[in-house]
Amino acid sequence: MYFKNVLANNSVKNSLIKECSANRIPHAQLFFGGDQSQHLPLALAFSTYLFCEKKTTDSCGKCVNCRKMFKLTHPDLHFFYPTIRVQQPKEKIAESKKCFPNFQKTILEDPYLSLQNWETKLKSSKTANIRSADLIEICKISNLKSYQGGYKVFIIWGAEKIITKSSAILLKTIEEPPPKTVFILISNDPNKLLSTIKSRLQEKKMTTIDSCVLLDHFKKKCPELNEAMIKDFVRKGESNYHKTFELLINPVEDGEIFNNFVEWIRLCFLSTNKKSKYEGDFAIIKLIDHCAMMASLERAAQLSFIKSTAQVFRRAFLLNYEPSLVVEPSIKHPNFSLDSFSKYVNNYNVLEIFALLSNTHYYLHRYSNSKILFLDLSFRLGKLLHKKP
Ligand SMILES: [Zn+2]
Repeated sequence: MYFKNVLANNSVKNSLIKECSANRIPHAQLFFGGDQSQHLPLALAFSTYLFCEKKTTDSCGKCVNCRKMFKLTHPDLHFFYPTIRVQQPKEKIAESKKCFPNFQKTILEDPYLSLQNWETKLKSSKTANIRSADLIEICKISNLKSYQGGYKVFIIWGAEKIITKSSAILLKTIEEPPPKTVFILISNDPNKLLSTIKSRLQEKKMTTIDSCVLLDHFKKKCPELNEAMIKDFVRKGESNYHKTFELLINPVEDGEIFNNFVEWIRLCFLSTNKKSKYEGDFAIIKLIDHCAMMASLERAAQLSFIKSTAQVFRRAFLLNYEPSLVVEPSIKHPNFSLDSFSKYVNNYNVLEIFALLSNTHYYLHRYSNSKILFLDLSFRLGKLLHKKP
């Protein structure tokens, strides 16, 4: 990865280059903030630059070290990242090393990978973490000589996933690292890091990405799509790399989602009365079928549905306070009136509704059983819609 391939963040790039030229590289750094998609590419660009034998204002891309970095095979680059524990608790194997071929392939395909997408790729309902065996491995490797006699670089991606009770293992190594050892901790949530570790890191705060920069990037990445469409996705994705990319690869029609929502929410509403009928059938039976249908969709479409549902509830709640609120065309439907619906979303149930939607989104992302999740969400939501002060 070159510096030039990292979007935005020019001031951080410049300070990294400056520190390198002055040979005053902080031995432990924290990359955080801004658009999270750029954390890992920047760590890769910096490591490549550090190892490069003919660097100027960027890596040369031709020397043996650059070539190894482009394939992520440099022997002095060490990755640690969240994984799922597959061995027995007594076996102490550094999973980051064991899973590296999968991680390497994933990063080579998409260096802008999000932590969420990596966890989705692991296809497990268990939580991915960085555990003590990985931290012990970091300490062990850092005390060995580097293979090529130069720097050793440790990239710890998703550092907030380091198990808190194990974090102290790293303290001494990060405080007094062996010479020519650089730690780059990357975190989307640095407040979860042990404060004694965080205080030893030099912070590099990333920036957000300008919508024009994102538009240019995706025009090159997706030349088959027209500019107006990409522009629309950048706007819908709120100029966030991952949100925009998700829309580009899973373009779900707003209308299609909303038709689905209208039928589903009516069934949820009717589900509190066992005798309620919907189009000639018992509403509960229809609701169960509807949940099965939603569970059969792609996981990304299920997640989009929950996000869109949260949007509709948000608009409905706001309408109670701002009657002049303009209703977006995407939430208009002949069988649905946001105005009437808003009367059921109020101060007495809104917090519980959002907590429910957020939990469902979380567990869907963790590959829990979607049919059970949708059923549970539907019945709870039905009750909440009828909740009275
Ligand atoms: Zn080079």
